[in-house]
Amino acid sequence: MRILLSNDDGYQAPGIVALYEAIRDLGEVEVVAPEHNNSAKSNALTLHAPLYVNVAANGFRYVNGTPADCVHVALTGLLGYKPDLVVSGINNGANMGDDTIYSGTVGAAMEGYLFGIPAIAFSQVEKGWSHLDAAARKARELVQYLVAHHRAQEAPWLLNVNIPNRPYGELKPYKVSRLGRRHAADQVISQTSPRGEIMYWIGGAGLPKDDAEGTDFHASLQGHPTITPLKVDLTDHDALRYWAQAAAQLPPGEEKA
Ligand code: MN
Repeated sequence: MRILLSNDDGYQAPGIVALYEAIRDLGEVEVVAPEHNNSAKSNALTLHAPLYVNVAANGFRYVNGTPADCVHVALTGLLGYKPDLVVSGINNGANMGDDTIYSGTVGAAMEGYLFGIPAIAFSQVEKGWSHLDAAARKARELVQYLVAHHRAQEAPWLLNVNIPNRPYGELKPYKVSRLGRRHAADQVISQTSPRGEIMYWIGGAGLPKDDAEGTDFHASLQGHPTITPLKVDLTDHDALRYWAQAAAQLPPGEEKA
């Protein structure tokens, strides 16, 4: 079992160090992670600047790029083999509901998935790394189960996992959940720079709007680590017919004789 481990908080973040220590004996685990914090970089790839790979004293490789860059470079040449599993995290903070669109943690896992490799994104619900040991142990349990039951040999899947910040003994069983939804993000924060220019800081994520039973928001609030299987097709299949009717009303253009 060969596992590629990445994250979006950077190769020195406590979350990736804890996850590496927790799963290192489950297979051959290689770390390729961003040099700096790349949270909210989604699936971004760096196309207009060179990427450099360096090796830290602990053997982790780090890249001056995004989470998706790290996985992309690893899979397309750096590793020289196709890993059996891509694991991302553990992220400093929740990736629930709409967060998954922006998340670099999910982006790293998704890059593996797009290359046909099963992948998991792990996040802790609260920022600040409290009870990280418990989250790493829970993450290990899932990876160990998947490895032991050969689930990585199936058609590729993409799992998004959020683990409440609780002591291990207070974590409830894993619960499979759908993504909830958030309200629109908070207002942008503007300040005046020392040079008199207006600076804008992106505000926080919105509060949950759909946190009904069955969602990741709901289950994690009850103390369950949540598992949401994700897919990548953004097509609104229900709307295809509606837009086909609208498109039929548009000028047909000139047909070639
Ligand atoms: Mn992050």
